[in-house]
Amino acid sequence: MSSNSYRGGPASRCKSKKKKKKRGGAMKKMTTEQGAAFRSVTEWAFLGSQSSFPSSVDAAASFVVDEIGIQKSLGRGGQRLVFELHCHSKFSDGSFSPSKLVERAHSNGVKVLALTDHDTLEGIPQAVEAARRFNIKIIPGVEISTIFTSRSEPLWEEPVHILAYYSSCGPSRFEDLDKLLSDIRKGRFFRARSMVEKLNKLKLPVKWESVARIAGEGVAPGRLHVALAMVEAGLVENQKQAFDRYLFDGGPAYSTGREPSSEETIQLVHDTGGVSVLAHPWVLKNPTTIIRSLKEAGLHGLEVYRSNGCLSAYSDLADTYDLLKLGGSDFHGRGHCESELGSVNLPVIALHDFLQVARPIWCGAIRGSLESYANDPSDMNLARITRFGRIQAPKRGLDDISREEDLIKCCMNSWLTVDERQNVNIEAIQSKYSVISIH
Ligand SMILES: [Zn+2]
Ligand SMILES: [Zn+2]
Repeated sequence: MSSNSYRGGPASRCKSKKKKKKRGGAMKKMTTEQGAAFRSVTEWAFLGSQSSFPSSVDAAASFVVDEIGIQKSLGRGGQRLVFELHCHSKFSDGSFSPSKLVERAHSNGVKVLALTDHDTLEGIPQAVEAARRFNIKIIPGVEISTIFTSRSEPLWEEPVHILAYYSSCGPSRFEDLDKLLSDIRKGRFFRARSMVEKLNKLKLPVKWESVARIAGEGVAPGRLHVALAMVEAGLVENQKQAFDRYLFDGGPAYSTGREPSSEETIQLVHDTGGVSVLAHPWVLKNPTTIIRSLKEAGLHGLEVYRSNGCLSAYSDLADTYDLLKLGGSDFHGRGHCESELGSVNLPVIALHDFLQVARPIWCGAIRGSLESYANDPSDMNLARITRFGRIQAPKRGLDDISREEDLIKCCMNSWLTVDERQNVNIEAIQSKYSVISIH
């Protein structure tokens, strides 16, 4: 079975044909299938956690779901397992630093957090560091800006955001992904400058310096930053007006950047050991055409859950094209008209299905990074393993090989279950080691 192949069980489907399904209402005990899924997801979420598996997760009060299968603890000693799979920090257009974001996630009960900044993985190490204090698991993620071009009508293009989720080890072939992301970021500078020029031609004196200052040092400016500069200069009343009048897709001051094609990006996510998910398909003008083409390119999933529940139209598209059904809050910390961090949890079956697809892919990526290091124990290959987490190698009185073995063991224990460790065949990799030194 290819890693892409996925059959959504009936329990993961929206039960209503209404456009928006409201959450809440009656709560009930999990079915046997949901219970098994919940246990398996929980085991993964607490792998390598500093505190042992919380016994409260096992309490009967934890095994309760609402009518669409989202776990809801009854609060009598139960524990909720909340995933947040879509949010932004200051490293793109969010308001919070990654550590503040993690802190907020913790207060909102999030146990697994994917940081998905636009076109950058720069915030991940800070998020991982902060997450250690709160016992939260971080999924390294990124939301990649791409352009979909219709094959039949090449003049028709649409911006498409692809979420990519990676193992704790991060992307394999990191440099390839990093190059793609840095090209996009350069393109964003070019695009923001071009939008400022267009506004200036429309006799709206927005200054490039203000846009760059608002975005912050090292942050690639986006439309939001241009809109904020317009508000600051008193040219529009608020961000919404800036978008509605000038910056909307195809608007008088709209410019495209240098985004890669959606299909090419999905291929690269696949090649670097990631899971690709189409973000907010409800903003697309031609979702069906796009989803069909992206599925052919290897897309794994579709966002169908948002704060107001499951969107049936997209859930049906996910069924038609055999795609995972995911979602998240897309939290930016803007403080208004925005879903709260951790407010879009997913049905336990959807979380389980996600991990069923993701974990073999992530295991493959981890194995790839370990093998590269075993074949060539260079600092660069060590960085591939430790990029998104300071793996604590023991320091006292051990020779280099023992230290190196301990390092690998430490990674394995926190990233993989016993079965996965066997599948990765770590012993075979270890047998390749010769004298390796860690600096
Ligand atoms: Zn987006
Ligand atoms: Zn987003």
